[in-house]
Order: sequence, then structure tokens, then C-alpha cells
Amino acid sequence: MRALLLSGLGPSYTNSTYLDGSLFADGPRDEHVSAVLSRAGRRDFDLFQLQYEHRGLMCPLLQSRRVGPEDSTEPHLTTFTVRSILESNGYDYQLVNLEEVWSGAAGMPAGDFDVALLSTTYVWNEPMLAHAVGWIEQHAPGVPVILGGQYTNLKYMRALALHDRVLGVIRGDAEEALPAVLDALRSGRSLDSVPNLVWRDGDQIRINRYSYIDIDAFPSPRFAGAQAIVPYESMRGCPFDCRFCSYPLASPKWRYKSAEKIRDDWTRYMEENDATLISAMDSTFTVPPTRLRRLMEILPETGVLWEGFSRANVIESAEWVDALWRSHCHQLTIGFESMSDRVLRLMSKRVTTKQNKRAHDALRGGDLRYAVSFMVGYPGETPEDFAETSDFLATEFEGRFNLQTFSIKDETMPVWEDREELGIVADDPTDADASWSHVGMTSEEAGALQWATLDRVRRTNDRAVCSQWRRRYQYWPLMPHLHRTTNLAVEKCLERLAMAPRDYPDIERAAQEIRVQLDRLNGFGITVAAGSAAGLDPDGGRDA
Ligand code: SF4
Repeated sequence: MRALLLSGLGPSYTNSTYLDGSLFADGPRDEHVSAVLSRAGRRDFDLFQLQYEHRGLMCPLLQSRRVGPEDSTEPHLTTFTVRSILESNGYDYQLVNLEEVWSGAAGMPAGDFDVALLSTTYVWNEPMLAHAVGWIEQHAPGVPVILGGQYTNLKYMRALALHDRVLGVIRGDAEEALPAVLDALRSGRSLDSVPNLVWRDGDQIRINRYSYIDIDAFPSPRFAGAQAIVPYESMRGCPFDCRFCSYPLASPKWRYKSAEKIRDDWTRYMEENDATLISAMDSTFTVPPTRLRRLMEILPETGVLWEGFSRANVIESAEWVDALWRSHCHQLTIGFESMSDRVLRLMSKRVTTKQNKRAHDALRGGDLRYAVSFMVGYPGETPEDFAETSDFLATEFEGRFNLQTFSIKDETMPVWEDREELGIVADDPTDADASWSHVGMTSEEAGALQWATLDRVRRTNDRAVCSQWRRRYQYWPLMPHLHRTTNLAVEKCLERLAMAPRDYPDIERAAQEIRVQLDRLNGFGITVAAGSAAGLDPDGGRDA
């Protein structure tokens, strides 16, 4: 029994053109960028030629971010979990990265396959499912397909109705169901005893019994070999009900591992796999409070570095942040989403702007790294509501932030139930790029507000850095030996440097900005590689 496994992240759509015309952009340079660099006396300058000295070695400031399930620096939780299930049950498989399926770059592994397994955790709508199933039909004709993951947890009947090739859908936990379905297929047995399976039996669709595993008692994933960053799942489901998120519906029963099991798993990954960071990818790692308090007691002695997601309301004080830091938390990611109480209520976020500000105040004074996400254009939000978020980002916020526009791409979001009340109209709900509108604004207005806010924050706030460009580069801090506030200052210089050609249509003004930011970077010990083509032009840019 040999399986073809398709798993990975979804395609990226949003904000794809914001960095165009900057030094962060991919592809050939436009004329304006070239003219600005020449005027700055840095005709062949490239961001990758920035470097600094540490312990006698020259280190590149920026490195391309590598992505994908095969990249040990940034593994994907679903892929990691399914691979662990297959390997611990002795199944032979080949992995195809779903990101390459979306981009058209995926190649078919050599050899024959008996079954194809498709993870739908990063599938959001019917066209995406059809695309992935179509890829399997094209490359592995005749091979039965088994689906599992978040999208088909909700849309299993529809998936079976639309795709004859799909033999079955595993809903919910796969730890017992996946080996059971593979065993049954291998031995030619009926699938009727496989837990959590909905399957095609001739013309009939059969729904097998549903069961949850006890994730605290069930062994956590194991694997062989070194892995620098280990993705970790400490809970399934979520006790909250944000209306832009379908996760709680797809995994309705909230279950979580004990603090002691988490400590033991993390210690084992450190000892057996040389893990240097545990990335807890749970809906929200910092609940329940009793578990978090226990973790803060027992994690300090382990020395295991970790990161996770949190809600703002649990971040009560600077002391709380310090305690988390002492438990070796390396970074928290928090969804503030909005600084308007009206919009937070529409989202059913169950957090207030006061709690968001309290969390921000507690975090900005500490050592812990953090990144905060915001949204513009949530159904019902008006430009006046969003001004509260924009003003907060431009005048108060300190740290790394992400600002996304509301997206209609996920057809399973609960907010669709508010369609009538909030006047949600979408030209094509399955197309992330399609226009939408609601009682508060249109997608075009949301996009314009997003760009205007990103521009405003870059120019006016010295302490806020946009995550959008940062995601293109290495996961770790740019200068890991320095404090987070120093790294933030370096990132701010880099952002202003790289965006200068886009920010200033005037060539001389843009060139001046580049000189200023290179000087500032120099103050942090960062130089342009000597002797490279990026060094200073002999003519100093005088004839640009
Ligand atoms: S956004 Fe996070 S906290 Fe809200 S429902 Fe989804 S997983 Fe839970």
C-alpha cells in the first residue's frame, strides 16, 4: 500500500501588489527604482548584500524565507501530523506540496500509488477542491482519493457529491481513522468499521460512527531525525466563536493536552530531534488559564524555546508577560483585529479595545517578541470605524503588525449567516480577488484604506513594522544576538529604505531617503558587502 499525500498551505492572494515598485519586489526592476538607486550612488544595490559582523564572522542580514513541508526550518502542522500517522503505522508514501499544486509547479513523484490522500485544511472553497482533485485525476488516474481536514470536516457530503473519484472523507481526528482506512483498502475489507469515515459504497453514501480521540492520552507525533522547528498541537477545537473563523465548527469539541504532557513532549523533541523551537499552532495556546499557570510553573526548568497564538484579553500585565518570557516563550501572535468596539462586537471577538490596549501596553515594555494582526473591511465596518484602528497603528502601536483586508474566500465562515443583516454582496464568493460590498464599505474602499494605513504607519510611526515584507525573509530575528527592540529598529530602517522608490516619486528625494536609511543601518553595524557590485558607484551617482 503506497500513498500519495497532498498537503500544505493554501495559495496566497492578498496584498500581492503592495510591494511592487519597491526593493522588496520580485522580478526585474522598473526604471524608477533603477534611477533612484543610481542617484543614491548604489546602482546595483541589492538588499541581500547587507551584512553585519558577529563574533568575527560576516553574516548576511537577510536570507530568503524557505517554505514548504520539506523545509525543516518551517514545517507545516497538518503535514507533520499526517506524516507522523503514516510513518508510525509503517505506510510508504510520497509527499506533494499543495502550494506547488496551486502554483502549477508540482511534479508527480515516480512510481505507482494505491491511494491518494488530500488534506483540505487549507482549502477554502469548491474551485480549490476541484483543482486539487483534478490534479490527482490527471497525475494518478484511477487511484481512489481519501479527503480529510478542515474544509471537508464541514463539506464532506458536497465533496462526495461533486467528485466521483473521492472514495471517502475522514471527518475530525485521523489518528485512528487513517490507518484503519489504509488497512481496509490493503486487505480488500469493507470500510464500514472505519471510524469517522463517510464513504461511497456503490451508489450509497455511508456515514460511519464518529469518535474523538483523547488527545491527552494519545501519543503525540513522533519522527526520526533532526528538526529545528517542531510544529505542535496542544488542543483541538476552540472555545470561542469569532464570526470570520470556521475553525470551531470544523472541530466542535474543544479538547486540550495537560501542561505536563506538553512539557514532556517538548522535552522529548528537544532531546530526540534537536529541536530549537516549538511552534504551538493552536487556535489559542494561552487558554485555559489553569493550564497556562501550570505551564508557567513547569516550563522554566526545561529550557525549551516556544511560540504560540494568544487572545489579547488574557495578556493582563507586564508581570504576566515577564512570566511567559521566563517560561521561554519566544514570540506571541495576537489577533487584535480592530480598535473599534463596535466592530469587535460584530466579529463576536469577545475582546474589547481596552483589553487590546492593555495587552499592547504590557507587551511593548517587555522582552517577548510579538506580532499583532488587524483587519479592514469586516462586514458592517465603516471607514469611520476603521479610522480608530488606523489611528492606533499610526500613533500608538509599537511592534510588528499585519493588516489584511476582509476576504470572502472562505465559504464556511459563520459571518455568511449575517449576509442579509450586513448587506454582504460578493460578485463571486469563491474568488478571493472578486469584489464585495456590505453596509459599511466596498472591497475597493477596504483595499485603499489598507494601503493608505500601511503607508501612513511607515512614514509616521518609528516603532511599528509591517509584517507583509518581513515574511519574505528568514523566520528568525535579522540579528538574533540583539534585543527585539533593536531588531525592530533595524527592520524599520530596512522598510523605509526598500520602500523609498515607491514612497517618493521624486528621484532625488527617494535617493536621499536611501542614503539616510543606509547611514542609520550603518549605526547598527550593518554595511553593504565590500567589493560587491552593490558597493558605492565610483561616480557617486552624479550622472544618474
Ligand atoms: S479566530 Fe481564533 S479564537 Fe477566534 S474562533 Fe477562530 S480559532 Fe478561535
